[in-house]
Amino acid sequence: MRGKRQDFRCSFCGRDKSDALVLVAGLDAHICEVCVEQAQEIVAEELYGGLNPDNPEPQPEQKKSKFEFKLPKNVIPTDIKQHLDKYVIGQDEAKKILSVAVYNHYKRLSHPATADDEVQIEKSNILLVGRTGTGKTLLAKTIAKFLQVPFAIVDATVFTEAGYVGEDVESILSRLLQVCDYNVAAAEHGIVYIDEMDKVARKSDNPSITRDVSGEGVQQAMLKMLEGTDVNVPPQGGRKHPEQKLVKVNTQNILFICGGAFDGIEKIIARRTNTKVIGYGNANKKQIKEEDMLQYITHRDVKRYGMIPELIGRLPIISFLRPLDLDAMKRILVEPRNSLLRQYQHLFRLEGINLTFSDDVIEYIAQTALEYELGARGLRSICEAIMTDAMFDLPGRKDVKHYTIDTVYAKSKLEGSLLEVLRAAA
Ligand code: ADP
Repeated sequence: MRGKRQDFRCSFCGRDKSDALVLVAGLDAHICEVCVEQAQEIVAEELYGGLNPDNPEPQPEQKKSKFEFKLPKNVIPTDIKQHLDKYVIGQDEAKKILSVAVYNHYKRLSHPATADDEVQIEKSNILLVGRTGTGKTLLAKTIAKFLQVPFAIVDATVFTEAGYVGEDVESILSRLLQVCDYNVAAAEHGIVYIDEMDKVARKSDNPSITRDVSGEGVQQAMLKMLEGTDVNVPPQGGRKHPEQKLVKVNTQNILFICGGAFDGIEKIIARRTNTKVIGYGNANKKQIKEEDMLQYITHRDVKRYGMIPELIGRLPIISFLRPLDLDAMKRILVEPRNSLLRQYQHLFRLEGINLTFSDDVIEYIAQTALEYELGARGLRSICEAIMTDAMFDLPGRKDVKHYTIDTVYAKSKLEGSLLEVLRAAA
């Protein structure tokens, strides 16, 4: 009996049955749970380059990732700005600052400094402040596309301090890895846009209290990543796959562009500059319209708003986006290379129909979007509400070669649509 007990050992590590949680029996051998786990890792390493066998995605180690970044030939900051002009309406100040910052960043990458170099060009992450739907994300995306570097958008509100429910900040880089198909070298030259940065402002100092104190913890957690360090990234993000093997990504050359609306920051700027936002406060002070106040923004205002100084120090370049007025809205509808109206015209052209929009309908759509206060984002939902019936009825109608959308038509579609019902209820 005793001799038999001794046979119940793990044939790999020799552990006795009494020491093992599970001992799986084979024909002539046994294996304990610890060795099963180790064996699983070895198999994963051999077959999938070390990743989760449930998701045998090709992995960076396996791909021997390579990425050589070159600034497009002879590009200078004015070229970057000109490119932005094709897709983004207005926002000249932000475009100029971004063009220079991005140009310098990639110049630094193209001419890596050696340890002996006296002058080391520091990384210059960027903070963009402006209302929602004014083009912050669009600017970052357009630049990344122009430079042909990987680009990811993440939302700061999903992150929490390590140890709390929510995602760890490391998963900011998971998204970047995913968009470049786990090519680590490519990811290390990418651009990450972190949206809703103002929502992680700390509570004190912050006039519009929107978030709990854990915001400060998130800011702390981001510091090293923004500055440049090796980060162990869960390739699939989140905490849903605790077994996934972490991938090391160096953030030294990743450009972080952070954006946020920073609602109410105009009042902080006004206080500092001793001016008055029209409609508020002391009538003796110099008056500036609220929407014009942002142009005076400095790092001090962002600090007052609740961003910690260490984080602000890692976002040395700051710029602002102007609220969009009626003229800008109208231009957004028609001017950009892939403007909304051009997209509808293209869709109809594929059906053999020449689609036109009357001038007054363009004004009507722009005006309605302004009333919704969603920035240019509102344009899309309004256009969809107007165009859905036409897109439903016209395909296949061989007799229709031309179709014009005018205000009477647009109003008839919009009135009574879900959008209008929602607006009335708001
Ligand atoms: P946010 O400032 O909130 O990041 P986005 O850049 O995401 O706003 O803009 C939302 C959409 O509105 C964009 O996809 C784009 O179609 C349109 N848009 C916003 N601002 C502009 C602009 N200045 N020029 C052209 N399109 C714009």
